[in-house]
Amino acid sequence: MSVAYHGLCRHLFLLGLSLLMLLLPGEAYESISDETLRSLPRPGNDFDINDGALLSPILIPRVPGTPGSTAVLNHFVDFFQTTLPEWKIEFQNSTSTTPMSNGKNVPFVNFIASRDPPGASPGDVEYVTFVAHYDSKLEPEGFIGAIDSAAPCAIIMHMMRSIDIALGNKWDAMQKTKTSSLDRKWGIQVIFLDGEEAFESWTADDSLYGARSLAEQWETQMHPAMSDFRTPLSAISLFVLLDLLGSQGPSILSYYQTTHWAYKHLASLEQRLCSLDMFKSSPGAPWFPDAAKDEHELKTFGGIQDDHLPFLARGVEILHLIDFTPTRRTGFQPVWHTIDDDGEHLDINTVEDWSMLMTAFAAEWMDLEGYFDTIDGPARRDEALANAEATRLAKKDEL
Ligand SMILES: [Zn+2]
Repeated sequence: MSVAYHGLCRHLFLLGLSLLMLLLPGEAYESISDETLRSLPRPGNDFDINDGALLSPILIPRVPGTPGSTAVLNHFVDFFQTTLPEWKIEFQNSTSTTPMSNGKNVPFVNFIASRDPPGASPGDVEYVTFVAHYDSKLEPEGFIGAIDSAAPCAIIMHMMRSIDIALGNKWDAMQKTKTSSLDRKWGIQVIFLDGEEAFESWTADDSLYGARSLAEQWETQMHPAMSDFRTPLSAISLFVLLDLLGSQGPSILSYYQTTHWAYKHLASLEQRLCSLDMFKSSPGAPWFPDAAKDEHELKTFGGIQDDHLPFLARGVEILHLIDFTPTRRTGFQPVWHTIDDDGEHLDINTVEDWSMLMTAFAAEWMDLEGYFDTIDGPARRDEALANAEATRLAKKDEL
């Protein structure tokens, strides 16, 4: 990630904006209950930096093309194959020379995992997509990149594991009752990108190797004729990028008018989890300082250079969750791009809080209220389904 601003500014006419909002899943976005929030699974020991099942295997140097990178990829594969067997795993490969490779090609491997609703044709599924980069910087030697972005990868793994059963419950119930809610085919997708970091210094060519290759390929890779979405790129309903998370007291700005509504939902969930005493980190300033603004009040300097750029440039909706505040020396946390960005400098309570918050967000996005086993009893699938159908039909009548 680079501190330079790319200055991209997007203008949408009011009418266009309202139409877009109608098309986004926000129209169906329903909050989850306190009961469900309280019942969301916690990561337990899995973020322990020494032997935690999710995080510790990522806390090693993992420069593209090195054995550390392969070991972390294997960790992702093992996790999805063992814990989330319903998920499809793919790799997207590319090669490039770098300023440090003496003319040799370096391999970059993006890891992609997704889960589709039952019976959906591949080109008809739209994906909320959670993204982090898994590579680490070449220098300083031994650099770990705990906030950058080992912790975000582990947070995403915990999220997917936490909602997977509820997602299955919902789809089972829908199939049983043949509910028309299946008309809208919402899937979920994870991308762990390679080659985000510059090898020498950040330029358009020396950075974002994996993201640039994937966005380019997904823009031109056509789905079968008559699919709802022409390409894998156009099937991304929201690209949620997590970066530089895991230090205490994060500050996340809202960068894009068209996804500010999703940012506000996240901010509201953060407040609810705090007030339910479900956050472990010390209370401080709110994590989402732009929450009270409406989208026209956002500063339109365009955001921070990161993995979303090749997707943004192709029209993908972006929610960029990066700990950045202009009043800090570099804008980022003091450990950023130093040897101190290691496991010991993570605030594990904050990492756990992020995992709970993002799980809640994914649960709301995927409309999973009623499909979790709660403290008070097992998932109330039929009741939840009946309620969802009633709400949907009521909305249809209003229109
Ligand atoms: Zn970095």
